[in-house]
Amino acid sequence: MLYVNHVTKKYGKTIAVNDVTFGLEPGSLTVLLGPNGAGKSTIIKSIIGFLKYDGEITVNEIPNKTSEARKILGYIPELPSLYPTLTVIEHMEFIARAYKMTNYKDRIEMLLQRFELADKKKKFGDELSKGMQQKLNLCIGLLPDPDILLMDEPLLGLDPHAIKELKNYIEEMRQAGKTLLISTHIIDSVDMLWDKTIIMQNGEVRANVSRSEIEGQGKTLEELFFEVTEGLEPSSVRATAEEEAQANDAASDADSKGEPEK
Ligand code: ADP
Repeated sequence: MLYVNHVTKKYGKTIAVNDVTFGLEPGSLTVLLGPNGAGKSTIIKSIIGFLKYDGEITVNEIPNKTSEARKILGYIPELPSLYPTLTVIEHMEFIARAYKMTNYKDRIEMLLQRFELADKKKKFGDELSKGMQQKLNLCIGLLPDPDILLMDEPLLGLDPHAIKELKNYIEEMRQAGKTLLISTHIIDSVDMLWDKTIIMQNGEVRANVSRSEIEGQGKTLEELFFEVTEGLEPSSVRATAEEEAQANDAASDADSKGEPEK
């Protein structure tokens, strides 16, 4: 179990995260939603132990910055930081050795196959396209197979195959009892089997609810998000969505009228 207890992080006078408290249960997928600048990356970087902050974060009751906790925690950053002078396979082997993994060759092969990098093993970091760099970033983060995995906007920059593969992989990890936290500012990207959502805004947690609670209230995630972040009633979000759909229908009717008969 991971606990974030009254965590506050300031950058100079900017309060990036203000008195944030939540817990993550094993075998659950939590979606951390919030507009840009809400504090999502800051809380993730605090959990992983990259930042100094006020408050307390524990992993299975062990402080997060200890070496025992670090073995349990994994992180996939939003932006890849690759070594231009290492090849794809060298990146993977470097991480395997850093984590003192044994028998890692099959696991490396499996990940590179699933994320379509198996034929790019000898390419250097700076020879990869942006999307390939993003996929290598994922493979590096997934390689040590941590019990708790924090993913910061993991779907950004991926092609449809990689998005599908990552969503499948996330579900496999969830089934295997891992604790997963995925941050995103794109609600539409969250169509996988999530269990809980935490909505942040201006550095604070505005909602922390389970999927069954939201569904029990007859709301969609989008409705809850706008209700929480913009103070909109669910009915008005629904109305706006319907108006948008009607406007789109009207636009496509107009388009099709303009098309020549086949
Ligand atoms: P999110 O991930 O939700 O987009 P962040 O955690 O990156 O939000 O940012 C939260 C707030 O902290 C923002 O106001 C951002 O400008 C500020 N911030 C983030 N990183 C830094 C930094 N290194 N220095 C100063 N301010 C920062």
